[in-house]
Amino acid sequence: MFSSNVDIKAILGDFVIEGMMFRYSSFMGRLYNFCRSLGLEKGKMLPSRAFCSDENQGYPIILMAKHFGTFPFNHGRVGGIVSTDRHGPYAEHGKDLVLIHASHVGYDPGTHAFGPYRRLQTEFSETRPTCGKIENVLQWYGNEYTFAKENIFLERHDEYFMVTIDNQLLRENRREGIFLNMEKIVLPDNRGECHPLKSYSTSKCYPASKEFRGLLGESRWPVSGRRTIGDWLLPELFRFKRDIPDDPETHGYLEQNLLNPMSQIVTSQSPLLTAAQVNTQVEFDRTYRTLVKADGYSGKQVILISGLNIDISPREGQVFPLTKFIPWAAFVKEKNGKGHLFEQKELFNELLNQREDNPDEVDLEGAIQKMEDEDEIRIKISG
Ligand SMILES: [Zn+2]
Repeated sequence: MFSSNVDIKAILGDFVIEGMMFRYSSFMGRLYNFCRSLGLEKGKMLPSRAFCSDENQGYPIILMAKHFGTFPFNHGRVGGIVSTDRHGPYAEHGKDLVLIHASHVGYDPGTHAFGPYRRLQTEFSETRPTCGKIENVLQWYGNEYTFAKENIFLERHDEYFMVTIDNQLLRENRREGIFLNMEKIVLPDNRGECHPLKSYSTSKCYPASKEFRGLLGESRWPVSGRRTIGDWLLPELFRFKRDIPDDPETHGYLEQNLLNPMSQIVTSQSPLLTAAQVNTQVEFDRTYRTLVKADGYSGKQVILISGLNIDISPREGQVFPLTKFIPWAAFVKEKNGKGHLFEQKELFNELLNQREDNPDEVDLEGAIQKMEDEDEIRIKISG
């Protein structure tokens, strides 16, 4: 399947990070109050979470339990994919329903880099790319991109601007790989075809098109001789073709969600952040569509909220990471089936206008103590 060079800037440009963050402790209280303001009933709301399976998503889950007074249902798959096949049982377990979905990305407060996250429980407290599942998916594309960056050369002889491309990148009959948008790169001959000026043993040299020269700027070409294109292999110049491998962990949705904008993801400054944003956006849309059709939700009040969890890499001795939430969108469905979509700005303002303190929040330590103090119930095995 080919990725299509969608203009991700048009999609991602609307997903604002700066100034849109809540600390999780503040977000959860506000979300609870938001649900109450919409008429959801105290003690009858069942939260559900669709988070990655990572242990660092635990703190948000604990806060969910504290604010909603019950442990949330599990709607999530690794990578931040929503198990839309679990709508039925979820709907049966509560009167009013609040589904919280998030993709996640690590953040190193020392370097301000998105992606790195320190795992305090590893032997040497190692820092690893997070979300690890997304990192796994991106690896194949990253390798393809690196190969292309190093095997396309900008070549100049006097006033002739040329581009030399490795034969592997020119083989159109490959089942999968990185494919160049040749019509943007190469100047066609008068029959409109891309013919090489010269064929070498493992590569071919073409005249560079006007568009390509304009896009890169002529100063990218060496005064004479050649140099690799490197980071100037811009996203509009290539796409990917991929037989998405069977991935029962995510039903293949994760890679599918990321495939179309992949050329933008691999060239972005923070591929793990960009990928997590894309995944949040595509999963919200997909979940919204399944939610409006699912039988179990009819006659019920349901709230779906999607966003991005930013896991701030913890310091030694910290029990929980400081997680921030960036809301992306929400869908509120009323009992009569009417619904309202909240786009990012509107949703952020709705949450901001709510109080962050929640009079109904549960004292978890006290609740656990109460359980310990209760008389034991003996399980009777009849037979
Ligand atoms: Zn993850």
